[in-house]
Amino acid sequence: MADQERLVKTLIDLIKIDSPSGEEDAMDAEVSSRLESLGLKVSHDSFNNVIATLEGEGRPIMLSAHIDTVEPGRGIKPMVDGGILRSDGSTILGGDCKAGVAIILEGLAAAIESNGGNRAIEVVFTRHEEGGLVGAHHLDFSLVAAKEGIVFDGEGPPNRIILSAPSQNVVTAQITGRAAHAGLEPEKGISALLIAADILGRLPLGRIDEETTANIGRMEGGLKRNIIPEQAFLDGEFRSRSNEKLADVERKFRGVFEEVASRFPKAKIDLDIVNTYQAYNVDPNTDAVAIIGKALAQIGLEPILETTGGGSDANVFIEKGISAIPVGIGVRDFHTTWETAVIAEVLQGAQMCQRIIKGP
Ligand SMILES: [Zn+2]
Repeated sequence: MADQERLVKTLIDLIKIDSPSGEEDAMDAEVSSRLESLGLKVSHDSFNNVIATLEGEGRPIMLSAHIDTVEPGRGIKPMVDGGILRSDGSTILGGDCKAGVAIILEGLAAAIESNGGNRAIEVVFTRHEEGGLVGAHHLDFSLVAAKEGIVFDGEGPPNRIILSAPSQNVVTAQITGRAAHAGLEPEKGISALLIAADILGRLPLGRIDEETTANIGRMEGGLKRNIIPEQAFLDGEFRSRSNEKLADVERKFRGVFEEVASRFPKAKIDLDIVNTYQAYNVDPNTDAVAIIGKALAQIGLEPILETTGGGSDANVFIEKGISAIPVGIGVRDFHTTWETAVIAEVLQGAQMCQRIIKGP
């Protein structure tokens, strides 16, 4: 049986290991040694994603989570507060995605110590998921045989099953005007900030429709109060669950940049739009959904089928032919300093995971 005390201890231990994206070595060492002590065979691909196998019956099922966190995520002090785990308010909690990792570890421990067989399992812990699904993009898929998987990385309770997620395109623009003294010869200058602001004011932003959003999250530029700003930088993104709408937003973005560029012929505007992941829509009748549904029924929960505005490693896994479904991990308010983990729901996640491992 999944054990709440052991699960919470594991989760707190993992949260206390700093692992912002790109600095996952300590988390890697910890989870690898835990998987080994559970009897799994642990290996790494060339990106140092963790791939561990547990022998068992049938076609393997992949259980996945990521081992990095966003910032501020250093020196996190997790505390239990009336059935809820939170940070001291100065950092994230890191429940995203350490609750997912803890759920898989507890699910494995509970399944292995109970009598009887289990399914063949492949555990995949990716690095650098935050900010572009980098680990998943670099994952050596020749080391993964599973065609179905569960990605423990969703907000909300474990019966929240995410069947659809958007594509994301990242937008960066470097704008170069011309510097000049603001008091002596302002007419010689071209303000890159003014151009950036002009672009910003014309772009379609916010919620564009029910399945499409766009945002410029950062605008920087200029050097000093008395210099016409020569450089400006825009950093943003847009997403849609429809690839046609995504292409439409891209056309509109490019149109705005071209229009503004034509009004400032002496400025230089370098626009870069790159796709970071592809949308997916999973059929609710696929095997992976049935496997999750069965495990949920065994612990008395009804599946809640949903769509999301966020991407996860599942976007990459599905693109690579693994029917991987994200589920909730009992965590709320990802990427904020008020992020919380609801202990009862994390436990339900581990119970569900245990049932999945035990098999039908
Ligand atoms: Zn996550």
